[in-house]
Amino acid sequence: MRNSTHPNKFELISSIRSDDTSCADHISRCELCRTVYQLLKWTGADKGPLVWEPSEELVNRSKAIARIAQSRKPARTVVGRVIFDSWGNKPALSVRQAPVGLERRLRFEAADFIIEIVGARQDSGWDFVARVYKDGKATRQFVMQIGSKKLHLSEGDCFFWESKREPRGFKLLSESLAIELGALQW
Ligand SMILES: [Zn+2]
Repeated sequence: MRNSTHPNKFELISSIRSDDTSCADHISRCELCRTVYQLLKWTGADKGPLVWEPSEELVNRSKAIARIAQSRKPARTVVGRVIFDSWGNKPALSVRQAPVGLERRLRFEAADFIIEIVGARQDSGWDFVARVYKDGKATRQFVMQIGSKKLHLSEGDCFFWESKREPRGFKLLSESLAIELGALQW
């Protein structure tokens, strides 16, 4: 199936949140989209309001975060603790031969935050989706740093990114706090 025929993440989130079944047919036939759909469900993209258009406040806050993330070091760094790992204590899989769709679900705890990260093996690397929660609700105060790249929140208050290789670790930055998540065996 060609990429251009896949529903985008926004359409998938819409279909998770409503009874809209326009993607259902495609999802039942497409392994890739089924995986993304399940990842979105698992990270709770079906909860909370849909951000059709960001409010002015959110835009200003995002700009502020971008400035902060570029300029200063947060005052405090905490290291996240793994509280759930779907790979458990299994020996490291031979990930390069991992089938498309193989998933790893991780949940970390750091300070007052819970961070969920799901990786799914694709043809040429991994797709990731992550969400940060405080008091059971998605929070928007972080940017995600992967290597030298900084990611901003996307649809459903999730971070989405792709990686050719298995990640060494993850970092979340806010004005006051840096959260380090790693180093995992893949
Ligand atoms: Zn698809």
